[in-house]
Amino acid sequence: NDPLSSVDPEIAAVLQSELGRQRGTLEMIASENFVPRAVLQAQGSVLTNKYAEGYPGRRYYGGCEFVDVAENLARDRAKALFGAEHANVQPHAGAQANAAALMALATIGDTILGQELAHGGHLTHGMKLNFSGKNYNATSYGVDPETYLVDMDVVRAKALEYRPTVLIAGWSAYPRQLDFAAFRSIADEVGAKLWVDMAHFAGLVAAGLHPSPVPYADVVTSTVHKTLAGPRSGVVLSTAEYAKKVDSAVFPGQQGGPLMHVIAAKATAFKLAGEPEFRDRQQRTIDGAKIVAERLTAADTVAAGVSVLTGGTDVHLVLVDLRNSPLDGKQAEDILHEVGITVNRNAIPFDPRPPMVTSGLRIGTSALATRGFGDAEFTEVADIIATALKPTPDVDALRARVLKLTDGYPLYDSLENW
Ligand code: PLP
Repeated sequence: NDPLSSVDPEIAAVLQSELGRQRGTLEMIASENFVPRAVLQAQGSVLTNKYAEGYPGRRYYGGCEFVDVAENLARDRAKALFGAEHANVQPHAGAQANAAALMALATIGDTILGQELAHGGHLTHGMKLNFSGKNYNATSYGVDPETYLVDMDVVRAKALEYRPTVLIAGWSAYPRQLDFAAFRSIADEVGAKLWVDMAHFAGLVAAGLHPSPVPYADVVTSTVHKTLAGPRSGVVLSTAEYAKKVDSAVFPGQQGGPLMHVIAAKATAFKLAGEPEFRDRQQRTIDGAKIVAERLTAADTVAAGVSVLTGGTDVHLVLVDLRNSPLDGKQAEDILHEVGITVNRNAIPFDPRPPMVTSGLRIGTSALATRGFGDAEFTEVADIIATALKPTPDVDALRARVLKLTDGYPLYDSLENW
C-alpha cells in the first residue's frame, strides 16, 4: 500500500518532472491533448488487474460482470457519439485499430490505396516497413504540387489504375477536410471497400464541426487520445455488415486481453465528448489554429521565408513551410523548445530535406484549447512563434511571455505529489 514515491522514488520523480513540464510549457504537438482528471482516475484504477478476453457476455474468464458494464458503456457511447452501427473499443492503440481494419476488409496480398506517408498519410496506411506495407500490396496517392490538396481526380485515376481492395482516406498531417462522399463514389466505382482513419479529426467530428465519415465508410478507425482527449488507445467503428469481421479481427486477430482500465477511461472520454463544453473546446481549437495560420502569414508578423501550407487550415493543425526560411524543421523545433513551446518538425510534401531534419513544422491547438485558451491567448501564442522564427530572437523575453500564459491557465492543479 506504500505510495509510488516511497516504492519507486526514481519513477515518482519522472512523473513529477513530466507534470512540471506539461504545466510550464505550451503543448502544441497536434496529436497530443490533456485528459481530464476523471479519465486519469479511470485509467489508473483496479480494472488494470482484470483479464477479460472475449466480449461482454462472451468472455473466456470469470469475474467479468463489472468490466462488462464498462465495455458496454464505452461501445454504446461510441456508437451514439458518432452515429455508428457498430463499435469495437478494445484496440490498444490506433495502429492496432488500423491493423484490425485491414484484417477485416482485406486478405494478405490484396492491394490497398492510401495517402502517401510523405504527403501527410500514416505509416499504417501502407509504409513499406510497417505491417500494412509488408502484408499488403500498398499503393498511394499524394497531394497536388501546386495546391497541396488531395485532388479527387487523381485519387480516382489511381483507384482505376490499381483497383484496390481497400481505399483509405485519412491523415496525420493535412490541414483541410477530405471529401468522403467522393471517396465513397470512387470506392463504389472500382469495387473497393472504404476505410477512413479519423484519428486526428475525430474530436472535431464528435463536436459536429467537421463532416463525419461514418455515413460513407465501411469501417472508420480512430485514436481516442488526440482531438478526442481520451486515454491513449484506439477504436473501430463499422456498419452492421462488418461488425463480426471487425470484432474477430481485433480479438483474436490482433490482440489478447483487452485493457479494461483503458476501456473504462474511453467510456468516460466518449461521455464527455458529447457535452456542450467539449463542443466549445473543439470550436476554440479550430479558431486557434486559424489564428496561428493567419498570424504566421500576416505581413506585420511573419518571418522571412515562413509560410503555411494551403494558406490556412480547417482543422486543429497548421503545417508551416520552411523551405524558403533560413531555419530548417529541426532548428525551428529547437528554438521553439527553448522558449517553452513544444511542436514537432514534420516533412512537408516534396520536402527537399531529409526526414530527420525536414522543412516543416506541425503545430496543433487541441491541448491549449483544453487548457482553456481562446482567441486572445492564441493570438499571443502565434505572435510568440512568429517572433521566435525571426533571426536572433530574444529567447528570455519570449520564455517570459510563455510563462505568463502557462501561469494564467493552471493544469491539473488538483493533482497531488506522487
Ligand atoms: N492513424 C493516424 C492517422 C495517426 O495519426 C496515428 C498516430 O499518429 C495513428 C493512426 C496511430 O495511433 P497510435 O500511435 O495510437 O498507434
